[in-house]
Amino acid sequence: MTLNRRKLLGGGLTCAAVFATDATTPTGAVDSPGLPAGTFTRSAKAIGEASEDFGHIIHRPPRAVFRPSSTAEVGTAIRWAGDRGLKVAARGQGHSTYGRAMAEGGIVIDMRGINAIQHVDADRIVVGAGATWREVLTATLSKGLTPPVLTNYLELSVGGTLAVGGIGGTTSRHGMQADNVLELDVVTGDGRELTCSADLNPDLFDAIRGGLGQCAVITRATLRLIRAPGRVHRFQLFYPDFRSLTADQRLMLADGRFDQLQGAILPDGAGGWRYQLDGAIFHDGDAAPDLEVLDGLSDQRDGAVVSDLTYLEDASAFARLEALLRSNGQWANPHPWWLTFLRGSHAERIAAEILQDLTSDDVGPFGRITYYPLLTGALLSPFVRMPAEDVAFPFNIIRFPSSNAAAGSKAMVAKNRALYERVRSEGAVLYPVSAFPMTGDDWQDHFGPAWPRLRQAKERYDPRHTLTPGYQVF
Ligand SMILES: Cc1cc2nc3c(=O)[nH]c(=O)nc-3n(C[C@H](O)[C@H](O)[C@H](O)COP(=O)(O)OP(=O)(O)OC[C@H]3O[C@@H](n4cnc5c(N)ncnc54)[C@H](O)[C@@H]3O)c2cc1C
Repeated sequence: MTLNRRKLLGGGLTCAAVFATDATTPTGAVDSPGLPAGTFTRSAKAIGEASEDFGHIIHRPPRAVFRPSSTAEVGTAIRWAGDRGLKVAARGQGHSTYGRAMAEGGIVIDMRGINAIQHVDADRIVVGAGATWREVLTATLSKGLTPPVLTNYLELSVGGTLAVGGIGGTTSRHGMQADNVLELDVVTGDGRELTCSADLNPDLFDAIRGGLGQCAVITRATLRLIRAPGRVHRFQLFYPDFRSLTADQRLMLADGRFDQLQGAILPDGAGGWRYQLDGAIFHDGDAAPDLEVLDGLSDQRDGAVVSDLTYLEDASAFARLEALLRSNGQWANPHPWWLTFLRGSHAERIAAEILQDLTSDDVGPFGRITYYPLLTGALLSPFVRMPAEDVAFPFNIIRFPSSNAAAGSKAMVAKNRALYERVRSEGAVLYPVSAFPMTGDDWQDHFGPAWPRLRQAKERYDPRHTLTPGYQVF
C-alpha cells in the first residue's frame, strides 16, 4: 500500500493556520499565499527529529519542517523563509555530529522526498540530492556501474556528503565525491533555481562542493560513473605497533598495489590498541586472492584476514557495525567525533603524540581512530580543504561511547576543540564533520586562500544569510 504523505500531514490549510497563529514569527502572519500545500509540518515528531542529529550533542528545534518533492517547492520555501528573516537548513540523513543541519527557530528542509533516480547512462547518473549513496549504488550496479568514490557508510545523502566533500577508500585515485560531480541543480539562498557545472555558473558550482551548504540547497546531482568491479579481495592486516603500520601504509601508497587503502587503530579489549590496515583489490573473475600482493610487508601474517566479497558486500561492510551498535543502544549515544587531515610530512609524529594521551575510553569499545595515507593530487574541489602536500593522513577519532552521559560528551567536545587547536598549529586541516564549536574566524582560517571566494559567493547567492546556520560560518 502506498501512503500519501501529504494526506497524512493534514493538508496545507492546517499548517497555514498554525503558522497564522504563530505570534513569534517576525512578520506576525505567515500564512503567505503560494506556500506549497501540505508540505510544512510542525508535528512533535518532525520537530523532534529535526532538532537532533547523529551526534546527539546539539538540540535546536526549528519552527517547522518542510517536506518538498521538487526543486520548485524548495525554491518557494526558501524565498518564503528569506522574506520572513527565517533561517533555513537542508537535512539529508541527519548524520552530522554537531547541529550542522539544524535551523533553530527556522525551517528545516527534509530532503528525503527528493530522492528519485532520474537516469542512469553509461557515464553518469542523475539523482535527487536526497537520495542515499546506497540508493545511488543500487541503481548503478544494476547496469554494472558505480560512482568512483563511495563513503564507508552508504546511508548518507548525496547532498549531505557533497556539502562536506565525501571521502572513501578510493579517494587517492578519484578524489572526493565532490570531485566526481558533473552538474548540480540548486536553489540559492536568495531563492533562484539555477544549474551549475564547471562551465555554467562555475563560481556557484565550486562554492557548493565542500562549501558547507552556505550558498544553495542542492536538489539534483549529475554524478560521474565508472565500470563497477564485480568482486573485491579484501586484506585486513594487523601490526604490533603504530610505527610498523605506518611504514607499510606508506609503502603501499607509493607502489599502488591496492585499489583501496585505509587503516585504523582500534581498542584491543585489554586496555591497549590493535593496529589494522585495510587494503582491497578489485577484480572480476573467480580467482582466489593473490597472496603475493603481501610480499615485503611486515604485518603479523598469522592474524591476516583475507576475504573475497561482491562489490556490494564490500561497500556495505559498515552495516554490520551499525547493526551491532543499534542492538546495544550505542548508535543512539552522543558521538563527539573529531576528523582531520594531517600533513604527510608530520603525520607519524603528531598522531603518535596524540595517541599517547588517548585511551580506549576516548573512543569506546567499538570506536576507532581512522589513520591512513592518501594522495591529495586528485582532490580538485577548491572548498574541500586539504594540507598542501602530496600526501595527507586522515586522522579521525570516531567515538562510540558506551554511555550516553551528557557530561562525558561535553568533556570530549572540549578535548576535540583543544586537539583541533593543537593540530591546526602544525598545518593539519579539519574535515568539517567534527563535533566542537567553530567561530567565523576559525572558518576563515579553515578555508584559507579560498575564503574570499566563499565570502563573495555567499554575498552573491545568499546575501540575507538565510542558509545553513548550523556551521556558524557567517
Ligand atoms: C556512521 C557515519 C559514517 C560516515 N562515513 C563517512 C565517510 O566514509 N566519508 C565521509 O566523507 N563522511 C562520512 N561521514 C560523515 C558524513 O559524510 C557527513 O556527516 C554528511 O554531512 C552527512 O550526510 P547526511 O546526509 O546525513 O547530511 P546531514 O547531516 O543531513 O547534513 C549535513 C550538512 O549538509 C547540508 N545538506 C544536506 N543536504 C543538503 C543539500 N541537498 N544541499 C545542500 N546542503 C545540504 C546540511 O544542511 C548540513 O549542513 C559519516 C558519518 C556517519 C555518521
